[in-house]
Amino acid sequence: MQSELISKYNRQVLIFTDLDGTLLDHYSYEHEDAKACMERLLGHGIPIIPNTSKTFAELITLRKRLGLNGPFIVENGAAIFINKNFLPEKPKGAVWQDGFWVKSFSSKRNYWLGLIKKISPEHGHLFESFANMSLERIVETTGLEESDALLSSQRQFGEPLLWKGTEEQLESFILMLRRLGAHPVKGGRFLHVGGDCNKGIALTWLLKEYQRQHRNVTVSTIALGDGKNDVAMLEIADTAVRIASPVHEPPELERTLKLYTSNKLGPKGWTEVLDQLIPESVFFSSSKTPDKTT
Ligand SMILES: [Mg+2]
Repeated sequence: MQSELISKYNRQVLIFTDLDGTLLDHYSYEHEDAKACMERLLGHGIPIIPNTSKTFAELITLRKRLGLNGPFIVENGAAIFINKNFLPEKPKGAVWQDGFWVKSFSSKRNYWLGLIKKISPEHGHLFESFANMSLERIVETTGLEESDALLSSQRQFGEPLLWKGTEEQLESFILMLRRLGAHPVKGGRFLHVGGDCNKGIALTWLLKEYQRQHRNVTVSTIALGDGKNDVAMLEIADTAVRIASPVHEPPELERTLKLYTSNKLGPKGWTEVLDQLIPESVFFSSSKTPDKTT
């Protein structure tokens, strides 16, 4: 898709969005209320890039439903999948895999499973690993539908552990994992064991690569998210949008400039703020300031 911002103003905006609770409704997982806004932005050639804790397997199905065919970031920044026609050249340091250029920021899941196996004789009674759970058990512990649980279990870069010990035991367990080179992240009932990556590192890498391949274009970024695992990308993007959640407060950020918080929830809030940041008038004005984000 030819970008109108590039052809008119030599600028481009990349939109990085969390999915659950942001583009997708917290309860229904639907994006109905963001559809019109998405179609409008995509129609003008503005990329909408999912940046999510979900897996590659989940995204392959979901991006079709969302009408997205561009790049996406999986497993909390562990890897970026870039479709072939998104960039003019091969992205630096990426490998061709499953029909995408893939840039990963973490060791593969097998490495982390090996590490978990090593500590299991002493600590194995404190957790249940996804790899050792039946599909039924994953459904039971995640609350996902069976088909979604199957896709969610196909992790490539890290391993979720269901914690069965006390909070105190968890703290010392986390310290031990860190000493072993892992970067454990607490999320709900699960402790995610993986490499040193986050949504912000992945955003920065894709921005740099896009800029490297579009030297004469001024590129800016908008990040949208509702949770704690969005903080790194919300801090680093040119413009940050916190999407209001029905179940928790917006994540706390250090930045105060170019920070917006939606009034409406989930996909309604997504539309509310992006309609303001990139109004349709941008594409018809002759002004050299195409949006409020640059
Ligand atoms: Mg979220």
